[in-house]
Amino acid sequence: MFTLTTLLRPHILSITPYSSARDEYTGKEGVFLDANENPLGSATPQGDYNRYPDPHQWAIKQKLAPIKGVRPNQIFLGNGSDEPIDLLVRATCTPGTDSILIMPPTYGMYEVSANINDVEIIKVPLTPDFQVDVDAVLASISETTKLIWLCSPNNPSGNLLKESAIRTILEAANHSLVIVDEAYIDFADSRSWTSELDNYPNLVVLQTFSKAWGLAALRLGMCFASDELIGILNKIKPPYNISAPTQALALEALNQEAKKSEMVTALLTERQVLTENLRSLSSVQHIYPSDANFLLVRFDDAKATFEHLIDQQVIVRDRSKVKLCDGCLRISVGLPGENERLLAVLHTFASVPQPANLPLGTGEVATKPEFVSNS
Ligand SMILES: *Cc1c(COP(=O)(O)O)cnc(C)c1O
Repeated sequence: MFTLTTLLRPHILSITPYSSARDEYTGKEGVFLDANENPLGSATPQGDYNRYPDPHQWAIKQKLAPIKGVRPNQIFLGNGSDEPIDLLVRATCTPGTDSILIMPPTYGMYEVSANINDVEIIKVPLTPDFQVDVDAVLASISETTKLIWLCSPNNPSGNLLKESAIRTILEAANHSLVIVDEAYIDFADSRSWTSELDNYPNLVVLQTFSKAWGLAALRLGMCFASDELIGILNKIKPPYNISAPTQALALEALNQEAKKSEMVTALLTERQVLTENLRSLSSVQHIYPSDANFLLVRFDDAKATFEHLIDQQVIVRDRSKVKLCDGCLRISVGLPGENERLLAVLHTFASVPQPANLPLGTGEVATKPEFVSNS
């Protein structure tokens, strides 16, 4: 049976959190002389930012809860997803004793956060088709494995992880929190794991305003979990972790859900167009199926392709040194014109014979068919 009290670091349970002025008096009217704010206003040309923001972001949580099908008390908002990622490690892992488990190739912050906190990392690679190796995961965990990180759709591979694998881990790993990072869920044809929160007390779901909502600059990440765990994260977070402008703009965005959906639809159309056009390039070996707003693409010569793109000021992510991603570049879906530019630059590169592709010993220039199958 999963119990939060044995999962948490012992001192976290008994800690007394900072009690802010806004925690101690929650009324909206009155003469506020309790927080050492500047009553005159702000040193900005416009707008008043002189008052501390709501430490618990209730307006956003009230609006977000029905959209996500959860209760406001099951939501934690962080300064990007980075903040809940770090808080989860700090709440559960005693350095030198506990560990986390990750499944490379995956998002880098799980590992970085564990390293910053001096926490051991168990790595169980995904299978070559980027799915969970369930038996290996279950064989690698113990009672001191506090966090199991899953990323679905996964970055950098782009695919959803199989539901049955996640369910098996949730049920078997009952000494660990199982975190499903759904940063790209809006681009996937799949429902969120948030609908399972009441069935699994060890389930944590991460989402973000940075991708589909188009608000990466605001730094606003969402963490969904049991009321109990959310209460712990609230206890250990910096008191005013989400700024007032971020809260105000996020509220406006939540009133424009249709705009988010339109952008997602447009990006999915572009993803399809980009996939088909990449397929016709001779230098492209394989395009992995994507449930996200990016493509993982294997090239004949990823490094040279990457450098050629950089020379032409088209910047993609070189993942060619990453385990299971050898030869691969990760390409975000851009605007139609940006994708055309990418393809045009790739075409000029593909038409120049590459030294690496010369057949050994013949001195002849290698030629490639114009269309190749990428399956
Ligand atoms: C982009 C991304 C995030 C978002 O991080 P923020 O800090 O919220 O911007 C989280 N997880 C994964 C896997 C991502 O690719």
